[in-house]
Parts: sequence; C-alpha cells; structure tokens
Amino acid sequence: MTNQKLNTMGQEFGRRSWAEPWKIKMVEPIRLPGKDERKQAMIEAGYNTFLLRSDKVYIDLLTDSGTSAMSDRQWAGIMMGDEAYAGSRNFYNMEKAVQTFYGYKYVVPTHQGRGAEHIISQSEIQKGQYVPGNMYFTTTRMHQELAGGSFVDVIVDRAHDPSDQSPFKGNVDLDKLESLIARVGAEKIAYVSLAGTVNMAGGQPVSMQNVKELRALCDRYNISLYLDATRMAENAFFIQENEEGYADKSIAAILKEFCGYTDGAWMSSKKDHLVNIGGWVAVNDEELFDKLRNIVVIYEGLHTYGGMAGRDMEAIAIGIGESTQDDHIRSRIGQVRYLGELLVNWGIPIVRPVGGHAIFLDAKKFYPHIPQDNFPSQTLAAELYLDSGVRGMERGIVSAGRDPETGDHRRPALELTRLAIPRRVYTQAHMDVVAEGIKAVFDARDKTKGLKMVYEPQYLRFFQARFEAIE
Ligand SMILES: *Cc1c(COP(=O)(O)O)cnc(C)c1O
Repeated sequence: MTNQKLNTMGQEFGRRSWAEPWKIKMVEPIRLPGKDERKQAMIEAGYNTFLLRSDKVYIDLLTDSGTSAMSDRQWAGIMMGDEAYAGSRNFYNMEKAVQTFYGYKYVVPTHQGRGAEHIISQSEIQKGQYVPGNMYFTTTRMHQELAGGSFVDVIVDRAHDPSDQSPFKGNVDLDKLESLIARVGAEKIAYVSLAGTVNMAGGQPVSMQNVKELRALCDRYNISLYLDATRMAENAFFIQENEEGYADKSIAAILKEFCGYTDGAWMSSKKDHLVNIGGWVAVNDEELFDKLRNIVVIYEGLHTYGGMAGRDMEAIAIGIGESTQDDHIRSRIGQVRYLGELLVNWGIPIVRPVGGHAIFLDAKKFYPHIPQDNFPSQTLAAELYLDSGVRGMERGIVSAGRDPETGDHRRPALELTRLAIPRRVYTQAHMDVVAEGIKAVFDARDKTKGLKMVYEPQYLRFFQARFEAIE
C-alpha cells in the first residue's frame, strides 16, 4: 500500500510501500454466491443487510464490531481462561490493562459496549435531564433516553458536511454546549457524553485541544465528562498525525493523556481491542464505582466478569496492548484510507477526510434522484450486495429512527452507507474488489429507484426493518 502521509520512509526515498505488521497463520474460506442466489437472499432479507445470513456474504463490511482477527497471543490467552465465577485472574489482567493504558482507577466489566452504556446511564441520568454529546450513537442515545434523559447534539456544524475536509470534525462546539447550559441550567445536565472518533459523522476524530477546553468548561459548571472510548485508540492516531505537538508522541501516550481530561469512559471492546466480545466502564470516582459495581450484578453478571467468560477478558487484556501500538494503528487506518483513495480517484462521493474505521459513501450525492423517504443509503447498501456480495450498512434516515415527540422520521443531514473494515481481516486485494463493486453500482446509479419500508420495529429499527424495491 502506498500513502504519502502514512509513509515515513517516503520522505527519504519518494513513494515507497508499507505493509501490515503481521503475517497470516490461519485462514477462513469465503465464497461469492452467484447473482441469482444474491438476488434471492436480498429479497428474503427484506433489503436489509442486517438480515442477510453471513454465508451469503462474500466480503463482510457490515461492521468492525467483534469482527477483528485475534493474534496468536490472544488465542494463547484464551487457553489461559480462569472460569471461576468470582475473582477470575483474567479480570485482574484486564483491569490492569485498562488502568495502564486508559488511566482510570476503577473498572467494571460488561458483556459489550451497550451493557456499559446501560449501567452508566442508569447511574448518572435523572429523569428530565439533558445529555449533550458530539453526535448521537444509536445504542448510546437509546440508553440515555431509556434512563429518562434527552440527548442534545453539540457537535461542530462541519461534522454534518461530508465535503468539509477539516481534520477534527468530531469536536464539540463549545458555544452550543454553553448555550444549552445557559438555557436549561447546569444542574439539568447529567453529563457530557463525548465520543472518540464519531462513528455517525464518518469516524471523525476529536482534537486534544477540544477535550482540554471541554474539561475546563465542565469544571466551570461542575459537570462530569464521560468518554465513549470505543475507537479512542484510532482517535489518537489522528491527533498524532494532525495536531501540533503530538507527532513524536506514541499512540499509547496520546490515548492516556486524552482520557486524563475525562472522568470516566465506557467501552465496546469489540472495536479497538481486537476481540469478538466484551466491554467495560471505568471511572475515577469511588462512589460512582460502587454504584456501577452494584448495578452490574443485576444486568450483566458479577463485577469480576460482567457477562464475559474469563477467556474473553484475557483476550481483551492482551488486545488493549496490541491496539495501542503505533504500527498496528498505522496499518489499520492505512487500509481504510487505501480504499478511500481508490474511490476518491474515481469521483465516487464519500465522507472526507476518510475516518478511522470505515468508508462512508455519501448516498445523497450518489443517488440525488432518490428522496430521503425512499431510503437512499439503505438502497445503496442493497445494490452493493446485489452487485458484488459485499455487505455494508445504512447510516441515515433508517438508523436515525423516529422523533419520540412527533413520531415522524428524524431526517439527518447525513445519508450514508457505511463500509466498516474489520481489523486485520481482509487484504489489499479485497479492498480492490470492494472498490470495483462500488464503481459498478455508481455507473448504474441512474437506473436505481429506492425502497419502501414494509415492516418497522419499535426500537433501533435499522436492525430489523424490512423493505421492498420500488419498481
Ligand atoms: C458499537 C458501539 C457502541 C455499542 O457497543 P456494543 O459493543 O455494540 O454494544 C457504543 N458506542 C459506539 C461509538 C460504538 O461504535
């Protein structure tokens, strides 16, 4: 792969390639189903890629969640699982890794990220309070709302503009936050919900400067600041690359500094940590820790396993160390960029700059003739599968759900189809095949008409909604 910015040797020798810091020891066969088989599968799935069986998928870019390839070290750790109900040694290894790399004092394990979101929302939100954050995430907002809170988006405006090329489009707009505080009063703010690399904005990072200023603002009003650390190691890479004073700092050092400005974090280990399941919430306040540790036993499991097997916690403990290595992050984000550069060179509209974990196709620009109420990004995900057996997902009007007050669709400015790249799983050749599939769908875009929704579940509808093609 070549990439000017990522290529340190490049400065010395001109354009030189770099490669992943690993080699492959075991493989999993995959198969491209035939055209008719794909068509049949798509109809059976109601044009929803979440409802496809994975053995009908060739290259699976549905999510980077829980789809990473573990290292031989992690697999060895799996064999060292201590499955004691209480006090498993793997929990203490994981706790130590979180303390070492994230810097928080107290760690509560959960089965995955939303388990952590659930217990922190239940502990820290009172009915009628507001939870400002840098763009919503589906499960995060859901748990905040179920706890009686109202999410308020305080991300910078440029996050909503897919063509704006500025480097830190995940930042909080401090003026928006201050005017919310002025309007409702600081005591009505449960906490600030900050996400590192904002998934729904296209994997866009938050700057160190922004979190520092946010900390100062929260201190002024005595408001807590919690971090969704799910892709914070990836966020650290963007700080290293683009923020003054960080070029010579390691990913690990940047991660720890950033977390140091926050009061705690929740984590979906299924992302950064290179494992298939797991999560945690970690805080510095002992009283809150007590509360979390108590609630976790109701919903997740005892506070030394939280819904995970001992072996899962060992894989996380090892994965945390691997996920913060500079050469790992460089190749992880480098692969995402490689795919992005191919598409940009072909004039295919994507969110720029390319984020950390995924390519986001701009479905509004891709299909300008399909109205938002006919689900352009859902349509694009379906068309890509039909063309090449590549599975992506909708991140637009379907994911945004309905306004609980009016019952109408929420109509987000961004109508995106996400192609998330699993960590350490696919090769450069797979990325070439994906890019060519998107190109074929792009070339046929005028003939595509959109979808109508024929079944809509009540919660997180994007997972299970069904559609039919408009003829
Ligand atoms: C995936 C994700 C979550 C939820 O985590 P799960 O492990 O899927 O429950 C929360 N926040 C962000 C930003 C995520 O990407």
